[in-house]
Amino acid sequence: MLIKAPKGTKDILPGQSRKWQYVEDKFRDLCRRYGIEEIRTPVFEHTELFQRGVGDTTDIVQKEMYIFEDHAGRSIALKPEGTAGVVRSYIENKMYADVRPAKFCYVIPCFRYEKPQAGRLREFHQLGVEIFGAEDMAADAEVISLAMDFFEELGVGELELRINSIGCPECRAEYRKALQDFLRPHYEEFCDTCKSRFDRNPMRILDCKNPHCGELSAGAPRMIDYLCDDCRTAFEELKENLSALGIGYTVDPGIVRGLDYYTKTAFEIVTNTIGAQGTVCGGGRYDHLVEELGGPATAGIGFGLGIERLLIVMEASGAPMPEEEGVDLFVAFMGEEGKKRAQALVHDLRKKGMRAMLDVAARNIKGQFKYADRIGARFTAVIGDDEIARGEITLKDMRTSEQRQISLGELADVLTAAKKDKTVQGE
Ligand code: ATP
Ligand code: MG
Repeated sequence: MLIKAPKGTKDILPGQSRKWQYVEDKFRDLCRRYGIEEIRTPVFEHTELFQRGVGDTTDIVQKEMYIFEDHAGRSIALKPEGTAGVVRSYIENKMYADVRPAKFCYVIPCFRYEKPQAGRLREFHQLGVEIFGAEDMAADAEVISLAMDFFEELGVGELELRINSIGCPECRAEYRKALQDFLRPHYEEFCDTCKSRFDRNPMRILDCKNPHCGELSAGAPRMIDYLCDDCRTAFEELKENLSALGIGYTVDPGIVRGLDYYTKTAFEIVTNTIGAQGTVCGGGRYDHLVEELGGPATAGIGFGLGIERLLIVMEASGAPMPEEEGVDLFVAFMGEEGKKRAQALVHDLRKKGMRAMLDVAARNIKGQFKYADRIGARFTAVIGDDEIARGEITLKDMRTSEQRQISLGELADVLTAAKKDKTVQGE
């Protein structure tokens, strides 16, 4: 039986991988400009980290985690998201003692056992940013601004920023009562997951994807109407900060994170151009998470952005993608001595930064030229006994079919000039 990739996973094939590199390079470059450095944490962590750090009333922890026991009987989980690992590392490495705020970015695979569909995979990838130790809403605005700049620099339009405030443990207590009072008459009609959340975390009921639960909770009280003075002021400051940066937004009281240590700002960046899985980026503030995981009280704010969904949006909105980089020179050869010379030449050109190729599959000269054609070489050259005797090669421009004799010493310069020419034409 042929072995296939596990359900919900996707190979990123050559051709596609170029787009991934492009997106990741853009992200890292943008983060550099925001003074944010990359952090790399393990793909797997102790299961407990996510139970405590993401919350055991969330879909992620209740239904979606890949958990296994290792050989010593430890419960290990593949990371379903990026924040918990970064927080764990921040505490473990005592980074709270360094300059504040600490700023991190990451590019990671995530694993969630979900029903695979367009824009929803079991292994997917996230770009993310986290900032620790900044309570001011300027930090929230900076994080959101980075995400918006990223989309803009990639040429993705038609995105909507939705913001909300989910308050803090103090104001949420009163809201929780009001919400439970509203939901209680329908308790029996909710799905089992919602029932299990009624006492522990009723806010999560508002996030249930079951349509009937959605109908039952329509018209429920909204957290935004229960904010304490501190949270309300913070929300106003967030809006002011966004406006100062020229970032448009809509307030969406329906955005729920709903964990005790998620606080104040919650946001999503959505598009309606790609159908159901339209949320490309989600983020928010988590002022109690570092403490919850055993560190000193430290504010936190960040986002996660799905790369697969981003690429779908880029495709849908006609955003520019990097073009395939052609081969600068293909060196064909005849005879044993020709082969050695061709190998040395190609090696030398590669050291000089050229994209140079030769045949390594023992083709005859006709086959070599066919191969050069298939890989789209810009120039070809032939090295045989004649060329060796004369110390020159015949260089052929595959675009114009023009041929010329040049010495080996000139070759790199000619290729570089042709490359520059191409860049200018391409602009
Ligand atoms: P959804 O409501 O679509 O399930 P979520 O709330 O679970 O999203 P987050 O946990 O906020 O998503 O993750 C941040 C981003 O990661 C999402 O906005 C999305 O772009 C991406 N993402 C989440 N789950 C998947 C998945 N299974 N496959 C592909 N991308 C995903
Ligand atoms: Mg989800």
